[in-house]
Amino acid sequence: MRFLPLRAKIRPVADPAREEGNRFMKVTINRSVLELVEGDITLQDTEAIVNAANPSLLGGGGVDGAIHRAGGPQILEECKAIGGCPTGEARITSGGRLKARYVIHAVGPVYKDGRQREPEWLAGAYWSSLELASLNKIKSVAFPAISTGVYGYPMEAAAEVALTTVRRYLEGHPEIQRVRFVLFGTMAYEVYERALRAMKEEGRLKEGRPM
Ligand code: ADP
Repeated sequence: MRFLPLRAKIRPVADPAREEGNRFMKVTINRSVLELVEGDITLQDTEAIVNAANPSLLGGGGVDGAIHRAGGPQILEECKAIGGCPTGEARITSGGRLKARYVIHAVGPVYKDGRQREPEWLAGAYWSSLELASLNKIKSVAFPAISTGVYGYPMEAAAEVALTTVRRYLEGHPEIQRVRFVLFGTMAYEVYERALRAMKEEGRLKEGRPM
């Protein structure tokens, strides 16, 4: 007779983002849940994952490369048909072989000195992604830290824009039930956690009861 590992029997119903055993934080905003998790966005089981794309939508390095590798050639074919996306906006394709049914390709700004409207462009990338999710009746979305890799946006400043924009959107859009930030590495996770804690402590989160 084979014994099941004990863990398999007693494991409680966990938050999906928690499965990897990585660090995790969760708050509620209005009727939605906002989560932070350290991990790899290509593995997420949200209905959509967001890609930090470039305006050509023809693929690149970083998270973009990882998503196309994991999702297979279909995503690139769809991107080619779309034909590009301006900075501060987003476009949607299927998720190919990914667990996520959709990929939302968001184009964040290249960071120069913070005075070239980078915060507006970055907020636009998040906001447009969420609008596309609402339009397509997508209820759960995972975001990477857009623009903070090759595009050079400082992580602290980017976290503030990302969290503020998503908070504002969720306050008016309960149809998005779950937004998850998937932070690649301990450093990124800690920056986001600090920013979210500060928001909570300063009373900037309108916490409600999730649906
Ligand atoms: P950008 O060009 O918008 O800066 P990058 O892909 O270079 O895009 O980086 C954006 C962020 O995504 C960086 O913080 C990077 O560490 C992170 N990243 C890279 N690979 C992954 C992954 N597989 N899952 C989640 N985040 C990732």
